[in-house]
Amino acid sequence: MTTIGFIGLGIMGSHMAANLIQAGHTVTGYDVVPAAVDRMAQAGGKPAADIAGAVNGAEVVITMLPDSPQVAEVVLGPGGVLAGVRPGVLLIDMSSIAPETSREVAAAAADRGVRVLDAPVSGGEQGAIKASLAIMVGGTAEDFETARPIFEDLGRTIVHVGGHGAGQTVKAANQLMVAGIISLVSEAIVLLEASGVDGERGLEVLAGGLAGNRILDLKSATTLARQFEPGFRIDLHHKDMGIALASARAAGVALPVTGVVAQLVAAARAQGHGSLDHSALLKVVEQLSAR
Ligand code: NAD
Repeated sequence: MTTIGFIGLGIMGSHMAANLIQAGHTVTGYDVVPAAVDRMAQAGGKPAADIAGAVNGAEVVITMLPDSPQVAEVVLGPGGVLAGVRPGVLLIDMSSIAPETSREVAAAAADRGVRVLDAPVSGGEQGAIKASLAIMVGGTAEDFETARPIFEDLGRTIVHVGGHGAGQTVKAANQLMVAGIISLVSEAIVLLEASGVDGERGLEVLAGGLAGNRILDLKSATTLARQFEPGFRIDLHHKDMGIALASARAAGVALPVTGVVAQLVAAARAQGHGSLDHSALLKVVEQLSAR
């Protein structure tokens, strides 16, 4: 069993920390929101008042934060992870951030003898609750093997995809696919309903054919009922589409469909839907047809 410092106890991190506690690890958690720390303490974790308190004595530090600036601040900033840990610690950043930032963090950590993996996840809040996440890992093979038992307490599909930042590149590919599929499911709903076909029955049969996919399986009922509580917020998906397009530019490739879908996500945000679940892309697609 491992002594773990866990920073970022939001929609995903709260459940992931709870699963690690459940598995028998000693987890000390910190979040800028005190209520999130209280919730973790109720689940059996140790509360920390700051980053230093969370990482003091930890063998492994896990971060699950919104975006690159928060990871840079928490890891590299004054009073941050690198200032508080001893050499030899393994830092696993499970946030979805720019691959570039993951490589910067890994380089800065190496100077202090701290090992780093980027290990973003897919599977949503339900995947976090059920410990069934897909985990895409960048870093050295040796560090991946060290972390594997911890990953197995959090997820089911666990793959080492390459060096530092590679996990984030795979996550960017995941996010462009998810947003694209949600956009197409939204277009299917608009077409069905505008044509007088029952949406529920239509999606039911689509889910059993070649168009079947996990988003139809998991989100059809809530989307048809226009229930858009997150889940995964539009604001975070907007961030991920930016990472996908920046990664495409860095790699010198064109991703035209991703470009269009990124604009639909941007429209949802501009219309004030940033705090809703990403299935609220339906609102933008409906609005295009004045529905
Ligand atoms: P969230 O906003 O619910 O959680 C982030 C937490 O980090 C919050 O509790 C926030 O208070 C905390 N935080 C922010 N800045 C901090 C700081 N400086 N120090 C300490 N704590 C700080 O977000 P989430 O939905 O849990 O997502 C976390 C990451 O996982 C994001 O990168 C997201 O893109 C990714 N992700 C989310 C989902 C999902 O379905 N929600 C799925 C896969 C991946």
